[in-house]
Amino acid sequence: MTSPNLTSSHYAIPKLPPQRQTPDQQAPWVLYQSARLNAFLAQSALSLRYGFTGKPLSLGGSALSVEERTKNRLLLAQEAGLSVTIPVLAPEQIHSDIALLNQEALSTGCDAVIITEPGLPAIVQAADCVPVLLLDPKACVGAVIHAGWRGTAASITLKTALKLSALTGNPPETLLAVIGPSAGGCCYEVSHEVYNALSQSLATKEKQALPSWCLPSRPEESHCLEPHYYVDLKRVNQAQLASLGLGTPKASGWIDIIEACTLCLPAFLWSHRRGETGRQVLYLEFGLVS
Ligand SMILES: [Zn+2]
Repeated sequence: MTSPNLTSSHYAIPKLPPQRQTPDQQAPWVLYQSARLNAFLAQSALSLRYGFTGKPLSLGGSALSVEERTKNRLLLAQEAGLSVTIPVLAPEQIHSDIALLNQEALSTGCDAVIITEPGLPAIVQAADCVPVLLLDPKACVGAVIHAGWRGTAASITLKTALKLSALTGNPPETLLAVIGPSAGGCCYEVSHEVYNALSQSLATKEKQALPSWCLPSRPEESHCLEPHYYVDLKRVNQAQLASLGLGTPKASGWIDIIEACTLCLPAFLWSHRRGETGRQVLYLEFGLVS
């Protein structure tokens, strides 16, 4: 394995502090929402339900039987006020860059569901991977995205934003994005190969920002000569969206990041790396406008 050309200045950058942002409890299992999105919704006529769930309710994962999963998703639907007359759109996640539309997401594996119809709830599950919500408030179209390191390296968030924009005809810089709880840059150590795959997925402009969120450990923390790599997947997804203009001063669209780290908050969030089989979800449903 070859090491990248690290200068001594890289070692001077401290690791990111642990992200111990505690939940703003909305309901028993709806642990996080975006204050910025909620403020926006309060001022708009847009009707939608969304949230990032957490413990104790597991909504997926290999340890759950089909019956338990159905029961738990029904509980979520009741708790969150989602439609229960149709099955919730929960795609078979395959760590891809595939985004499908509405019920298409039930037919084959994918990692993003674009919702264009009211009364159609969709979820993506995660336990360290990054759940991302995209919203076109003008067109009442949105997407839920599961972005692990493979999906992030394949630019699933960027590609879903482009697909959504092509559908509505509104430019991508008008989208609103919420990046949810996931393993943070404080804890998410990856191999050099993963580090390279992620850095190569970004445009040259964003690559220059690598040291700020992709940090080798300091020598005194390491028992070996190889550097350790800590990647902040939230920031990689943010950088991909920023490359489309989101969050720039001239853009009407913005990106909100929920900093909570699944590894820093074992009491609240499921973590695959911790060996847990439970899964939290990001859910989204547009309401019927009366
Ligand atoms: Zn952490």
